[in-house]
Amino acid sequence: MTVSKIYNSFNFVFLALALITTTQCSLPNNTFVKPIIAEDSTNTDNKKITLQEKKIFFDQNTAIYLSNNFDGARLNDVKKLNDSTLQLRIQPENTPINNSAYFAFKIWSKKPTTAYLEFNYPKDYSHRYIPKIKSENEIWQNIDSNLIFKKDTIITIKVIINEKPQIIAAQEIITSTQTKIWYNALIQQHKAKITYKTIGNSVLGKPIPMLDIHTGNENEKDIVVLLARQHPPEITGFMAFQSFLQNVLESNQITADFFTKYRVLVFPIVNPDGVDLGHWRHNANGIDLNRDWSFYKQPEINAITKAIVQVANKSKGKVVIGIDFHSTQEDLYYTSHSTENSTIPHFYDEWFKAIDDTFPNYKPNEIREDSNQPVSKAWFLGMYGATAITYEIGDETPRDFVREKGKVAAIEMMKILNKR
Ligand SMILES: [Zn+2]
Repeated sequence: MTVSKIYNSFNFVFLALALITTTQCSLPNNTFVKPIIAEDSTNTDNKKITLQEKKIFFDQNTAIYLSNNFDGARLNDVKKLNDSTLQLRIQPENTPINNSAYFAFKIWSKKPTTAYLEFNYPKDYSHRYIPKIKSENEIWQNIDSNLIFKKDTIITIKVIINEKPQIIAAQEIITSTQTKIWYNALIQQHKAKITYKTIGNSVLGKPIPMLDIHTGNENEKDIVVLLARQHPPEITGFMAFQSFLQNVLESNQITADFFTKYRVLVFPIVNPDGVDLGHWRHNANGIDLNRDWSFYKQPEINAITKAIVQVANKSKGKVVIGIDFHSTQEDLYYTSHSTENSTIPHFYDEWFKAIDDTFPNYKPNEIREDSNQPVSKAWFLGMYGATAITYEIGDETPRDFVREKGKVAAIEMMKILNKR
């Protein structure tokens, strides 16, 4: 039996066995819980995606230029509707897909002008995000609500255009290159604590990074895993993750105590291809990576699960917490119902209460159910009995609050774990 065949299996136990055969590591003292996976779970065999044609669109009449020629862009076509209105065709990488109707393009003109831009999506998909705008070296801002027009389900925005290119996007753009600059700065700043490792490559050959954070002896420590950007446009989840991680790296008594017992494995960009291709949700094989956490058919998930198991086996550590940062329409938490035999049964209640107590009148929904999909949360529970959370932030939650809550979430997590 080849390793790749083993990885095509549903069974988590096979993952551990494969690693024994390839690394000679011993199994951790875990009770393996079989994942609950629905029989109709999405097949994660490769699917075809349609790439955007990278180009500059030019409208003779209005002398307006639009470009998708940069990382994170998404603009499939431009059609002139009348003298002042351009229709922007926005398509996902493949279908079926969640309605994460992401767009991003540059716009400029030789002489100052005003234009109406109408968003056009394929049938069954509709506008989701408040458009954001920025010029070079400026900060992102929401497009003024007075400049957004809604007719039935069609959204049109009014934009004042000049020769200085502006980027208009569904969410703030953070490419794989920008992500790398950010985590490299963190590594420089915390050299003593962080070890960097490229643990594999994406479908298109981009590195899948892991930051291994610990102080002193790395062995026999309980492990906390943080994941970000399985789904490319979910930028508010990524901002929460950035703030969370930065606060885990602060030097203070809480973090000093925390790192005497714990080690943190961080995967800051699970889907770099999707991020740079301006995908709505999938990787370059057209697959939702958060449905592959028991198939391991996609190189990104294969590499990450292997890396986690290898670190845990080699150090005789146990994964106790897994937090996967995402975005959706509102702030909420997906948690697991089966907490009785999990590593920290009261973690959810204590953690959410501590966060809620910090922010009066703030109580996001918690959806506590055992996932029947092969998502990361089910993998952490099935593989390690770990307490796992899909930490969802609303698409339009104010960014200052996202960061402040990310900070509180990190501190309160460490305080609970330090009491164990
Ligand atoms: Zn997501």
